[in-house]
Amino acid sequence: MSTAKVPAKIKVANACPRCGNEMERISKRAIDKIINILVPVRRFKCYGCLWEGNRMSSENG
Ligand SMILES: [Zn+2]
Repeated sequence: MSTAKVPAKIKVANACPRCGNEMERISKRAIDKIINILVPVRRFKCYGCLWEGNRMSSENG
């Protein structure tokens, strides 16, 4: 367990929580669609460190 240091100024909207790279939005899985009913999330993948996961979305849709 290590607390990764968040890179200083992140300009990109969808920045990777691990390395700060810009992430690519990928298609949701079935479980994500269910989660999305409760919480507006979007699934992203980072091509820098290969982190993949859901991020909260402030937008609708
Ligand atoms: Zn990353």
